[in-house]
Amino acid sequence: MESFAESKVASWSALVTNLADIATTQPHAAYSALNHGLSSKWTYMCRTTPSRIMSQRLAPLDEALRKKLIPSLTAREGGLGIRIPSKQATHEYNASLFVTSALCNHIIKQDTHYGQEIISESLMAKSTVGQQNRDRTKNDINTLTPLLSTNMQRSVNLSKEKGASSWLTTLPLKTHGFTLHKQAFRDALSLRYGWTPNKLPSKCACGSSFTVEHALSCAKGGFPSIRHNEIRDLTADLLSEVCNNVCTEPELLPVTGENLAGASANIQPGARLDIAANGVWGGSFERTYFDVRVFNPRAASNRHTDPQTVYRKHEQIKKRAYEQRILDIEQASFSPLVLSATGGLAREATTFYKRLASMLASKWDQSYSSTLCWLRCRLTFSLLRSSIQAIRGSRSSSGHPFRSGAIDLVISETHLHQ
Ligand SMILES: [Zn+2]
Repeated sequence: MESFAESKVASWSALVTNLADIATTQPHAAYSALNHGLSSKWTYMCRTTPSRIMSQRLAPLDEALRKKLIPSLTAREGGLGIRIPSKQATHEYNASLFVTSALCNHIIKQDTHYGQEIISESLMAKSTVGQQNRDRTKNDINTLTPLLSTNMQRSVNLSKEKGASSWLTTLPLKTHGFTLHKQAFRDALSLRYGWTPNKLPSKCACGSSFTVEHALSCAKGGFPSIRHNEIRDLTADLLSEVCNNVCTEPELLPVTGENLAGASANIQPGARLDIAANGVWGGSFERTYFDVRVFNPRAASNRHTDPQTVYRKHEQIKKRAYEQRILDIEQASFSPLVLSATGGLAREATTFYKRLASMLASKWDQSYSSTLCWLRCRLTFSLLRSSIQAIRGSRSSSGHPFRSGAIDLVISETHLHQ
């Protein structure tokens, strides 16, 4: 058994080394191959082989992951949420014994009746193990966080937001635009961890020194508006699938003497919002106006504020500007769509995209949860591409069509997690 384990570990280490070679040119594909395929080989072995045999022998595999694959994925040393096998071995084995114990006892007793109570006991054990894993990860994060720099702590908090990791956890399907080329993948990791991407220009076109924070906010290259328009167009496209009368940049009716409270209410003639659609909330004639704002959570003005406070602030600004005008004059409803450039959603945007996912799911006859994951993934890829474009200029644009057809196929083909 022991030499069998050793030979298995040697063959996996060789596969990881091959993957490290592939990662120098195809890091996104290599990362996915590890997380969606290769790692389950050692997870299975760890679950079925006593950990006193496995954990010692996994050292060469740990080494291949740490010293070869991770550096070639990131082009530097750094964390990526890849589990170190020798540290997992004991947990995996104990969890596996626990989950299968009801079934084992049943087999030992040679009882021919296989009832619901055994299935329920196994399912409960599985959910206990799931909770233990989540608690352990949380403890690890709580222990590690104080050791990180303030900048890295903020990056970790941003990447923990729902949706912010969907670009990493989805399968990189080229036909649906869920792939990143090598520089884009490494830039995306740099954005995630607050690292400085390689080979940045020293000066921005506006004359300021070039930093990621600056590039994501500088209006000179027009990137903030590209990012905003991509979210507007994606949202309008998807609304057209399920709503009537969808348009972008609808002009609001003029204010002709109506009394709108608040100094920040927008009373400009010819004011336009981003999207309007019928039937999102209420009946098919009820109209909703949307306004999109994408903010840079790493900008100096937001850096020291709790992200939830920043989301609320942007929602309030939008609502004070438009909500009463739309309620009173358009007799319609208003939803501000506030997103962070790293993929997080504010409260009202979350409510709206959940509603949109539920409408799309019933139209496409797909499950609500996979449609919502797919939608979050589209939003995150769109934000990520625009951010990468802000750092690299148009050269880094992925070259994939922004809109893809056959959306219902993606949902069944893609193993979306999170
Ligand atoms: Zn600039």
